[in-house]
Amino acid sequence: MERPVVLGIESTAHTFGVGIASYDGTILANEYSVYKPTTGGIHPREAAEHHAKVAADVVSRAVKKAGIKLEDLDGIAISLGPGMGPCLRVGATIARALSYKLSIPLIPVNHAIAHFEIARSSTELFDPLIVFISGGNTMIAAYEEGRYRVFGETLDISLGNCLDTFTRETELGFPGPPILEQMMSKAKEFVELPYTVKGQDLSFSGLLTAALRALKEGYRIEDISMSLLETAYAMVVEVTERALVHTGKREIVLTGGVARSRRLTEMLNIMVKAHDVKFGVVPPQYAGDNGAMIALTGAVELKYGITIRIEDSSIRPKWRVDQVDVPWYYYYRDLR
Ligand code: AMP
Ligand code: MG
Repeated sequence: MERPVVLGIESTAHTFGVGIASYDGTILANEYSVYKPTTGGIHPREAAEHHAKVAADVVSRAVKKAGIKLEDLDGIAISLGPGMGPCLRVGATIARALSYKLSIPLIPVNHAIAHFEIARSSTELFDPLIVFISGGNTMIAAYEEGRYRVFGETLDISLGNCLDTFTRETELGFPGPPILEQMMSKAKEFVELPYTVKGQDLSFSGLLTAALRALKEGYRIEDISMSLLETAYAMVVEVTERALVHTGKREIVLTGGVARSRRLTEMLNIMVKAHDVKFGVVPPQYAGDNGAMIALTGAVELKYGITIRIEDSSIRPKWRVDQVDVPWYYYYRDLR
């Protein structure tokens, strides 16, 4: 295990997560507690209350799991955004307190970039085109000249949110993607739904509305489920393929909560084979929001001297990946 060893806190949305990781990619702990809304989607204030309630327990579970003492840590990493203000504030407060009490640096981590870094580290595909799909994000990104650049993203809701809202509104349950994938085997015919790709960007809100309308019009739910999935995933595959050719990358990684989708992986695989590039999927335990990815990214950042003063560490709810300098991108070369 190579120092620095960092504790990372994730609290951008429904998950309060605490991970402990070292610079060489060893994950020592990955503990979390997920807020589950009683009805509808995430209520930011309720989620924040949940995070505040579980925080101390999740931190101590992570430290115990890692088999270390708090004093052994070299830094505290905090996911400052993007995310929901009330949720971010809880994590940030705890991170600042730990950093102050232990007199160790505070490290600012962009949540989306942490999803990228855990995917690169765990698949060992270090220079990939990144397909990042979660409950809050849908984005194709790749590193070029010092930063991650965006090669397509959703213009409205995320793919995950689209599918989750559909299964929630139709009382099929949560999470959406695996439920819809199960319904596929009972589908008989394709229902035409809006396929919205604008340049390299995507839109899912019209697709969601049309799928819900099709149900009222009397189409079978199995047929709509299959058509909704296939349409949404095909849109992602199309922009991914164009970004692949444009960037000339020879590797693709899929990351974010929806990376657990069997059908999306299968569809991307078909495209990937045609281009003869490598394809990796982040392991399921690191697909959804988690503290390990914040700790891992924090450890690499700390090695490169990236820290933040407590008084400058305000949350960044709209922090974009292309605003972050990534001097550590080739860190894996030092490791070899
Ligand atoms: P995140 O925001 O990264 O925590 O990811 C949450 C998203 O992951 C939600 O949109 C879920 O529907 C999705 N998700 C959870 N489990 C699965 C699964 N088994 N297959 C595909 N997507 C999933
Ligand atoms: Mg996420």
